[in-house]
Amino acid sequence: MTRDLRIHNNLTRKKETFSPIDPGKVRFYSCGPTTYDFLHIGNARALVVGDLFNRVLRSFGFEVTFVRNYTDVDDKIIDRAKELGRDAIEHAAIFVKECETDMDSLGMLPATHTPKVSETMPEIIAMIQDIIANRKAYVVAGEVFFSVPSFPSYGRLSKKDIDSLQHGIRVEVDGRKQHPSDFVLWKPAKPGEPAWDSPWGKGRPGWHIECSAMAKKFLGKTLDLHHGGIDLMFPHHENEIAQSEAANDCPFCHNWAHNEFLNFGTEKMSKSLGNVIKIRDFVTKYGGQVLRHILLSVHYRARLEWTDEVLNRALDEVKRIHDFVLELNRMEAKGSYYGEEISSCREKMQEELANDFNSAGAMGHFFSFLRSVKAHRDELSSEALAEAHRVIRFVEDSLGLVALNPSKVLDELKRHEQDTSSTGVDSEWIERLIAERRVAKETKNWARADEIRKEIASKNVVLKDNPDGSTSWSVSS
Ligand code: AMP
Ligand code: ZN
Repeated sequence: MTRDLRIHNNLTRKKETFSPIDPGKVRFYSCGPTTYDFLHIGNARALVVGDLFNRVLRSFGFEVTFVRNYTDVDDKIIDRAKELGRDAIEHAAIFVKECETDMDSLGMLPATHTPKVSETMPEIIAMIQDIIANRKAYVVAGEVFFSVPSFPSYGRLSKKDIDSLQHGIRVEVDGRKQHPSDFVLWKPAKPGEPAWDSPWGKGRPGWHIECSAMAKKFLGKTLDLHHGGIDLMFPHHENEIAQSEAANDCPFCHNWAHNEFLNFGTEKMSKSLGNVIKIRDFVTKYGGQVLRHILLSVHYRARLEWTDEVLNRALDEVKRIHDFVLELNRMEAKGSYYGEEISSCREKMQEELANDFNSAGAMGHFFSFLRSVKAHRDELSSEALAEAHRVIRFVEDSLGLVALNPSKVLDELKRHEQDTSSTGVDSEWIERLIAERRVAKETKNWARADEIRKEIASKNVVLKDNPDGSTSWSVSS
């Protein structure tokens, strides 16, 4: 593949031609999930975007080493495990497995390496030692801090300077830190928490250092591409750069790409707001292909607003695609038609994907192709038919938007239609509106909360607010 790939690089805030250090080979790292609970569809956006980059790079002929980590040592995991009376590492391991099940259901290709923090301790400790030796970190009573002022280019990615970071915000007073922006590399463990031996005593790493250490372990000192959700740019990615460059004395990564949020109503979908749809629940109801389709139907740098319209459109499009694939398998060449929408479709999709992974643009061309093949089904030439099969394979490989088993996808869609028509109401739609109403009430948006109650009532569904803060519903007779 000779086509240039252009990526919006957040280091420069510009679209740039992508040229990896070793021509033809890509060292790619994506920040993975914290495994303390089931993932939600906002997390799925970050995962599917990482998978998109991996697939597109491969389809353009690059040999990709793709690393996506699991954060299996973390406060949230420790707290949740404590609540359940479980060992923290065991609890995290359970959710690594659940996460893998979700990723499979989303049609994601396996990453080359999926390291866990608990299995990377020697590398993490060695890296902290290097940073200390380079006088960019210091030790206070069993705790190691990165010294932000010792790293003059801090803020290069997020475009923040450390002085302005201090203005207008209430900085926590921490007598152990030399500067308020300094951050933890290693902390002593409290009794009952998972802990590892280190030169600074028994403890565990701070969050940011894991990605620096895992990236170095599997990809070397300098990466070609690093990805994560937009919320990770600061401080997580800024700190990764500081740690890696302080330890290794060379640039950490040449290209940084961040996906935007998936929003629910007007808010980011997040556990803390309580407005989440779990991947597992969505997939049980509609199948993973529909979720993947929704997530790729919008450019990764644009916000994705989760609405009924978005869902219904995806249900319709996924059905059309997979009906089409089954029909195409039965089609025979009966004429001489080989129109431009068919012959140039792959070329146009490649052009879109080469333009900062524009999956939405590529899908647009794919649907024009699909309409054209259907319209000319009885007059296609054998070249047109052969090309149509190549287009399907391309969409399968580079976007994963055609499932290997179309009948299974269609069966899942049919099951959903039957469920909805037997009760007359779409329970997932109601649950979603209930969650949106809760957020509206929390943010004192009473007008929206009332509107939602009325919308639900129009389907003969009655809401009951329970004393514990939950809301139940029933269909009125
Ligand atoms: P967390 O488990 O919260 O650390 O998130 C794991 C990944 O999911 C990170 O890359 C986040 O940026 C991403 N993420 C979390 N919520 C959303 C959302 N609503 N939309 C898009 N990405 C998200
Ligand atoms: Zn990370």
